[in-house]
Formats: sequence, structure tokens, C-alpha cells
Amino acid sequence: MEKIIREIPNHFSLPRRIGQLSKLVYNQWWVWNPDTQRLFINIDRDLWERVYHNPVAFMRKVERAHLNAVTNDRYFLDTYDRVIRNFENYLKGDDTWYQRNYPHGNGTQIAYFSFEFGLHESLPVYAGGLGILSGDHLKEASDLGLPLVAVGFLYTEGYFSQHITEDGWQEARNMHLQLDDLPVIPLYNEKGAHLTIAVPLPGRIVQVRLWEITVGRIPLYLLDSNVEENSPDDRLLTARLYTSDLDLRISQEVLLGIGGVRALRVLGHHPAAWHMNEGHSAFLTLERSRELVAQGYTFEEASAQVRASNIFTTHTIVPAGNDEFPLWLIDKYFSQLWPELELTRDQFIDLARKTQPWGGEVFSMPVLALRLSNYCNGVSELHGQVSRKIWSFLWPDRNVDDVPITHITNGVHTGTWLARRMRLLYDRYLGADWLENIDDPNVWQQVEAIPDVELWTIRRHLKRKLVSYMNERARAQWLTTMVHPVQVVAAGVLLDPYALTIGFGRRFATYKRASLIMRDYDRLIKLLNRPNMPVQIIFTGKAHPDDEPGKRLIQDVYRSVKNAKNGGRLVFLEDYDMNIARYMVQGVDVWLNTPRRPMEASGTSGEKAALNGALNFSVLDGWWREGFNGYNGWAIGDDTQDPDPNVQDASDAESLYDTLENEIIPLYYTNRSADNLPGEWIGRIKESIRTLAPQFSMRRMVKEYMTQLYEPAIKGIPEPTASDKEDNSTDTIDVIEPL
Ligand SMILES: *Cc1c(COP(=O)(O)O)cnc(C)c1O
Repeated sequence: MEKIIREIPNHFSLPRRIGQLSKLVYNQWWVWNPDTQRLFINIDRDLWERVYHNPVAFMRKVERAHLNAVTNDRYFLDTYDRVIRNFENYLKGDDTWYQRNYPHGNGTQIAYFSFEFGLHESLPVYAGGLGILSGDHLKEASDLGLPLVAVGFLYTEGYFSQHITEDGWQEARNMHLQLDDLPVIPLYNEKGAHLTIAVPLPGRIVQVRLWEITVGRIPLYLLDSNVEENSPDDRLLTARLYTSDLDLRISQEVLLGIGGVRALRVLGHHPAAWHMNEGHSAFLTLERSRELVAQGYTFEEASAQVRASNIFTTHTIVPAGNDEFPLWLIDKYFSQLWPELELTRDQFIDLARKTQPWGGEVFSMPVLALRLSNYCNGVSELHGQVSRKIWSFLWPDRNVDDVPITHITNGVHTGTWLARRMRLLYDRYLGADWLENIDDPNVWQQVEAIPDVELWTIRRHLKRKLVSYMNERARAQWLTTMVHPVQVVAAGVLLDPYALTIGFGRRFATYKRASLIMRDYDRLIKLLNRPNMPVQIIFTGKAHPDDEPGKRLIQDVYRSVKNAKNGGRLVFLEDYDMNIARYMVQGVDVWLNTPRRPMEASGTSGEKAALNGALNFSVLDGWWREGFNGYNGWAIGDDTQDPDPNVQDASDAESLYDTLENEIIPLYYTNRSADNLPGEWIGRIKESIRTLAPQFSMRRMVKEYMTQLYEPAIKGIPEPTASDKEDNSTDTIDVIEPL
């Protein structure tokens, strides 16, 4: 193997005393360690905001005088020394959960492939839930010491930023990432040339350059086709996320699946388990099979070996999220490959053949992934059930319950999403090691010991922070762009920092029913404006740029928001991203989610909200169906669904208004103690934190991936099924021996 050179592109000239800062900024570890963020804030708060919390850009721009000033600040230096010490100890990683539990696991590697990674707002190469989950997964895998290596894309044009016109229409503005300003590390070969791999696409070979982002102890390798040797079109192959152009889309998936395997090979990695996070990377099964066939195995032997070490997570039952390609496109892209696999065209198509309801045939990425992975899972219990049903046609001789798709419910990375003040509060009351044991329910019993007044003071602080953030954004818009005054109101200038505040933040897709709460607008208006019981609702979210119904939904919501009758209590916050998500999940009182069951799969934003002391008010779908216990929030509807969506919408809206009117609003405003504390509300917050924080932590989730999927894949143990998980009954599935 050739020698790889990682060369940090920027050399900052820093005062010696704080010289180690340059190391910190090229590792994403700072993202979940708020003390580190305080360092940047203490050096120059305005600049930190101006560079949108991007430490590399910060270090490139910060003035020497600011740096010199902190070298005389005792408090700063104490924090600095502590942070550097923690960082160095962390990187050593000599007593991790993985090491304690897998003492013979040295040298084993797990590959993790995802179309997008959401690590922080300063790295806008993610679109939404899937990316955030991948990012959180890497951070937690790092914390636990898992030997993961990850592969994704460096989208040089990022994801779009959202602007809403006066009429509520979403406009997408593209970005051009300034790579020198990002914590991406270029990789070179020993001759000093960019490290690239070659991937065949129809009629040409495309060169793909490799970059690295370091996430704690984990390398995330990013593919980038913007290299000189490629044609102008090919240079743009990896520029953007989620194109609907089929040729571009399949090219990207070839680059990720086939190119991703080649990238790991060039980098000298030999993973024992391969995790495909969603079907976009399923072509990796073909490349791995090709490698083995080239070594002399038959395709049957090769694919058995691939299958035995593959993990596939399906994330959605929405058709748009399950890629399918027409067969002519497969002919165009793969007719060179099937002879190399010693397959006929028909045998090749069979790997992923799916018959459409109207009779046509397509090549389905999830089918390819399911057929070539022994370990498959959905992302919540209900989603597991529904997935088994949807894909049961692939196992015609089995009962639906025995379809080998199990589930692991999504969680969130505590350090990334928890407000700093809440973290300090937990530090005081949960015991010294709480963060090391976040998935242990016993640790969280101590939440009861937190004095109401302390918890409530922080909750109010976080809500004020959200409201003043929105005010400032509205002001900036008013100052710099020609917005209509009503847009300033819609952006939140009339928000009340003391009113009961409900948040709704997510992608605008029709099944998420953002406008359900507007169904009876007059009733809603009455609820918002009751004397002494004001309620306000903050909406935020992007629609996919090609999703016309999604954009119309934003427009519907925005028109209701602009209606003066709501008194400025309905607002829309533009350009949802991880930064806004943090303000929202930390600042609102109630987190609202209204998906049409069972389309949500899991959802994670409500988990972030719960961790910070907001109460969930949601349809019993995805994670909330497992989390809700009757006291730790509220349910919309019940654990059933009507086949007629109109009937379901009507009954869900009714349930929503009833609960809001008769339970949530009174609980918040009445029964206040002499010092104005809503004791029962605070009791519910504690119940919510106590029961939800450990169960829906990323730590619980990644440990489950390790023990239930990665470990058996590494050992080549037969596939688990849902019935295994429930009653440990043994299955009569053909055992595939790894070669
Ligand atoms: C958490 C998060 C999501 C995912 O939220 P869902 O609950 O799955 O809708 C999407 N976007 C951002 C910016 C997030 O932080």
C-alpha cells in the first residue's frame, strides 16, 4: 500500500501559549464539547457569529490583538488547558466501551456509508434527518471507541439556503463552499499528488479526489469529482445533494458504492463489516463481489461472503426515499460489469428486480441492499413491522413476521444537542459520570432531585434566547433586504418570551402534515389569543427544491402565518439547519409532530427536544410510539390508523385541538405556585427527561448496532429476525458460511 499524506491546509500563526488551538479546529470533537466553543466565543464573540460558528474560518480571520489578549486571561487559559488535556486524552482512547467489551477487536474495522453527514451547521453537506443521524452516529461511535471508517460526499455547492418570498414561495439559493475555510483535510499520495481513485461511468473513467474530515477518533472520507482531469459535467457530479436527474443520481450512487469501496482500499482499510445507511450506497455490494470474483470465486460464493458481512438500514417507506432505476439505465451503466461478475443480464437484474404495481420492472436499490445483506433493520418498532410487510415479497416462503428485517430505534447524540446550561445542570445533579452513562436509566432517576426553580430558570432562559435570536434575524432581514413589513412580523418580531411556545421544525413533505394544526383556523386563532394564556407557534423547515407539493405546503403555512388575525403568534423561521434546530429544540416548551402514521419511520427532533426539557406532543408514530408513557408528553390520536387519510386527518386534528385546549394550555398557565412556578408542568418535564433521555440516546442506539448487527456481521453469525429479538426462537434459515 502506498503512503498517504494528510496535509492540513492552513497554518495559523498563534501565540505559543495557545498554539494547540490549530489542532482543535481540524477535528469535529469541538462540536460536542461546549467548553471549546467558549474559547472561540471568548476570543471574539462577534467574529464567531459572523463566520457561523466555523472554527477554521474563525482562525483564518481572527485578529492577532484578540489572540494576544486572551493569553493574559487566567480564566481563559484554565479553560484552554483543560480543553487541550481532555482532547488529548480523548484521542488516546485507551479505555473505551469498545475496548472493554471487545478486547480481541483490535484491527477489526467497520465501514459506514451514507449519502450525507450532518455534523455541524458550518459544514452544510447535509439535507436533513438522514444526514443528522449519520453525523450523530459517527460522533457516538467515536465516543464509544468503535473502529468505524465512514464514506460520503464533499458536496462543493452544499445544500441550498432557503428564502421565502412575500407570497410564501420557497426560493433556493445555492452556495459555493470555500474549502480552505472548512475542516476538510486533503489527502495526497507519496508523490505529493492528490489522492484519487478511478470509477468507470458509461464511455469514460471519472477521477474522484479524496478528502478527510476527522470526527473525534473516526475518519470520514469524502469523495469529490471536481478534479481537472474530468470533463466539466463530471466535475459537477458531486456538487449537490439529491438531484432528481436520473443519470446524475445513478452516477452519484455508482461513485459512492463502487468508488467508496475503492477509496477504502486505496487508504488501506479492510473492513470486516459494511453498513449501508439507506440504499444509496448499495452498489458497494457489486464492487465487493467483483473483487472476489476477480480472485477466483464464483459469483455465488462471492455474494454469500458479501452478504454475510453486510448491514443495511432502511429509513423510510416513502417511495421517493427508495431509489429505483429504469432497466435501460442499468443497461447503460452496468453492461460492462455483469460479465465481470460472470452473470447474464437477467441474473444481474434479478439482484434488484422489482415489479411495479402497473407491471413494469425497475432496478430497486433497497431490493439490492436487502438481497445482499444478512442484517437488515428499520429505525423504530412500527417501522420495522411495516418494512417487513412491504418487503415480504422478497421472501415468498416466509410469514411476514419472519422476514429478516429487525429494528433499532433512532437516538440522538447527547453532547451535540444538549444546551450548555442544561448540561451544567445535569453535571450538578446527575452525578459525576452521567455523560459516560447516558444510556443508563438509573442515572436519570436523579432528575427528580433538581430543584424546580433551577430547572425553570434555565427553561425560561433558553426560550428567551430563541425569541431574541428570531428578533435579531428579523431585524437583520429588515435592515439588509427589501422585505415587506408583514414578513418581518412573520419572522417573529411580535414573539413573547413568556408565552407558551410550540415548535414545529422539519422537512416540509406532505406526509408530515405541517398544516394539520391550521385545519380549523378559527378555532386555532381563538386558542392562540385567549386572554392571559397566549400561545405561539414557530414553524421552520425546507422542502426539497423539486418537491412542488412540499413547497405548496410551505406556502399554505406561510399564508396562515401572515394573517393578521393570529396577532403575530404564528411565525415562520427561514432556512432550517442544525443551528436553528438547536435554538428550537432547546427553546420551545412543546415540540409538535404530526406525521401521517406510519410514514415517519422514526423522527429524532422530538428526542432532542425531550433531552432539553421540552414536552412532546405528537402522533404515536416512530420513536414517540415507544417513548410516550401517558405522563411524559401528549399523544395525538391513538395507536391505530384509518385507511382513509381524510378521516384520519379530521380525527387527528380534533384530538390535537382538544388536548391543546383542555390539557396543555391550562397545565402551563394555571396552578402556579406563589413564586409563579408551574409545578405540574415541571413535573412532566422531569418525567420526560427521566424516561426519554437514556432510551433515545445515540449511545443506546450505537451500542445496539454494535451488539445486534456489527458483531454478528463481523463474526458471520446468521441473520437475526424480529422473532429472534422478541422470543429468541431459533430460525430455520440457511446459514451462510463466510469463506
Ligand atoms: C434533527 C434534525 C432533522 C430530523 O428531524 P425529524 O425529527 O426526523 O424530522 C432534520 N433537520 C435538522 C436540521 C435536524 O436538526
